[in-house]
Amino acid sequence: MQIIFNENLSRHNTMRVGGNADTLLLPESEDEMIRAYEETLEQKGRVFILGRGSNTIFRDDDFRGRIIKTTKACPRIKIVQSNRKSFRKRYLVEAGASVTNQSFLRFCRENNLAGPTYLQSVPGNIGGSIYMNAGTGIDEGLAISNTLKEVRVFDGRRIFTLPKESCGFLFRYSIFHKNHWLILSAIFELESKSGRKVEREIRSRMSFAKNWQDLGYPNTGSVFKEGYQHIEGLRGKRFGQAMFSIKSANWIINLGGAKTSEVLALVEWAIDLHEKMGYPKPVMEWIVR
Ligand SMILES: Cc1cc2nc3c(=O)[nH]c(=O)nc-3n(C[C@H](O)[C@H](O)[C@H](O)COP(=O)(O)OP(=O)(O)OC[C@H]3O[C@@H](n4cnc5c(N)ncnc54)[C@H](O)[C@@H]3O)c2cc1C
Repeated sequence: MQIIFNENLSRHNTMRVGGNADTLLLPESEDEMIRAYEETLEQKGRVFILGRGSNTIFRDDDFRGRIIKTTKACPRIKIVQSNRKSFRKRYLVEAGASVTNQSFLRFCRENNLAGPTYLQSVPGNIGGSIYMNAGTGIDEGLAISNTLKEVRVFDGRRIFTLPKESCGFLFRYSIFHKNHWLILSAIFELESKSGRKVEREIRSRMSFAKNWQDLGYPNTGSVFKEGYQHIEGLRGKRFGQAMFSIKSANWIINLGGAKTSEVLALVEWAIDLHEKMGYPKPVMEWIVR
């Protein structure tokens, strides 16, 4: 396992912000990841589990504790069961927490499976995406939980499996926000679909994302998960090197060297503006450590 001391966290989140972490651990197997988590809990140390950092920003102050980065530990993906004889062919696919959404969808395309193609534009891991219940906007109502069957987790003492009905999934929310369990892998239940159709859906999602999202600068995707209003004057508002994107609504970009305090000041400013204008308080989507 790679252990890095005094690591700059701006390298580990897509907004490219944050101070240093005392220790960053990069386990290279599921066992190593479990042991690292268990040991840290035993020592009553502060710990944060990190995926690709595409929904997480770190504060400017140093992180006193351990970051366990899960991007290398559980990369396996395989079909574990197929039911070709039933009217609707169904397959169970197991994916480790470190599998990226894009590799998961490549696997679906290659195996003619109807994967959640809207996740192609979501730059996260399966673990982080389950934690966040990543998906489309609330109006379209599609989320990773739709195709999930169960999630395998480690709670610090034992490994167990949770059926999706016990995961408390809501819009961009799951039971894992409350319980801080380590997500190890998940089983997805997928129907068959021709690889060419899957490829077409993936391409159409990417062209939608390109048109809508401001990808020219580091960012963390949508800022608010609920209550964002298209208020005149939000776009282009800037504190230091952090700015509400002019291209995309509900989107903050790092113009280069932004501080987390500048990013969060913009978030606070937008919340205040909503309240001053009589709108309900919008709810931030990001995880801030
Ligand atoms: C350009 C861009 C576009 C985006 N578009 C979308 C979109 O369309 N829809 C959408 O829903 N989101 C979107 N996002 C947000 C983000 O990509 C998703 O939330 C993604 O699923 C987060 O995955 P991650 O691996 O980066 O998680 P991280 O940011 O690393 O972590 C998120 C949370 O999950 C926890 N976590 C991560 N891995 C584990 C694990 N193995 N066990 C337990 N907890 C874990 C972390 O502790 C943290 O609390 C976008 C972000 C960007 C930058």
